[in-house]
Amino acid sequence: METLVIGWDAATSRHLSQFDLPFWESLSENGRLLPEHPFDEAGYISSANAWTTISTGAPFSEHGMLGFVYGPYSDHPLSGPIRSLATQTWLPPLVRRILIGRVLGALGAGTKGEKGDKVDSTNIPYKRFWEYIDGDGLVYGLPLTYPIRETNGVVVSGIPAPKFEEASNPVVYPERLEETVYDGDDAGYYVEQESPVNDPSVQERPYCDRHLRRMEANAEKYVELYEKLSPERDLEVGFLMFRGLDDIMHATEDTSIIRDAYELVDRLTGDVVDAIDPDTTLVLSDHGMRPASDYRPDKDMRMDHDTTQGVWGATEPFELERHVDVTPAILDRLQVDCDVPEKRDSTDTVTSDLENEVIHERLEDLGYA
Ligand SMILES: [Zn+2]
Repeated sequence: METLVIGWDAATSRHLSQFDLPFWESLSENGRLLPEHPFDEAGYISSANAWTTISTGAPFSEHGMLGFVYGPYSDHPLSGPIRSLATQTWLPPLVRRILIGRVLGALGAGTKGEKGDKVDSTNIPYKRFWEYIDGDGLVYGLPLTYPIRETNGVVVSGIPAPKFEEASNPVVYPERLEETVYDGDDAGYYVEQESPVNDPSVQERPYCDRHLRRMEANAEKYVELYEKLSPERDLEVGFLMFRGLDDIMHATEDTSIIRDAYELVDRLTGDVVDAIDPDTTLVLSDHGMRPASDYRPDKDMRMDHDTTQGVWGATEPFELERHVDVTPAILDRLQVDCDVPEKRDSTDTVTSDLENEVIHERLEDLGYA
């Protein structure tokens, strides 16, 4: 494998120096990774928006994925004034976050909480980074890849994806690999309903331990897939998502739990890199976390997204600054010369509206945006 990209969803710059993380410290290059304007200054970004920009190289104004709980964003006459208001530093941070996270979404993408269109993979008209290469990608857990599309390589859907047993569409491409991925309870990225965020009777430690186990299962599964496929296929580029930090920090501020999560993500990343031995490794986060504000008073969020604390670290000098830089930089490293973003061919999947509605309601209950 030439380049392996590992997502540390919600890994936070100020935490990385606080804990003992030998793999992270072994990366010779690193820096901050910020969302594009106006999300950086407005202080709010959804993982849906961030990972779509990261994986396509298209800015929000082109891909329109504001958050998991909205439909695709289409421009509204007031969006210009709202976006510029959201970056006015004289306004309290909470007001700026509400402008960008709620007002913009309600105007441009349908009212949050109402049954309506919600985004999924079929709403993203751009190629993802591996779709520009001649070889294959081994992509595991990237958000907004369900329903899965025909592609060059192997893709295991990230959130929002249903449980394998409940899915009406394939969760893995090619479909024959589904049984390899889902042969136990832990692998995959479905969203569980019982969380301390929406149910005070759920204990933080057992909830977070389940996320740790799932990250372990996903790391093992990724290596298993690589070992099974690599003798025959040219797996040129890889992506593996560790989502647990995001879920865990929404649900707890307990430093010992958070330390365990970072240390596990660091160790698992080291294990995966040792097993696959890519020429280049890039680790990145979509945003950091900070203590929660009352941005979402209806949810018992312990921490929430921080747009100033995203990071990247790599074995080579990627020189990333913004999410939009990531796909061009990966392609540059793979010596692919093309204009980014590029529209993909028309979709070839079928989606079940009913099923998507259930998944998105679950996401919304848990306070995802
Ligand atoms: Zn995230």
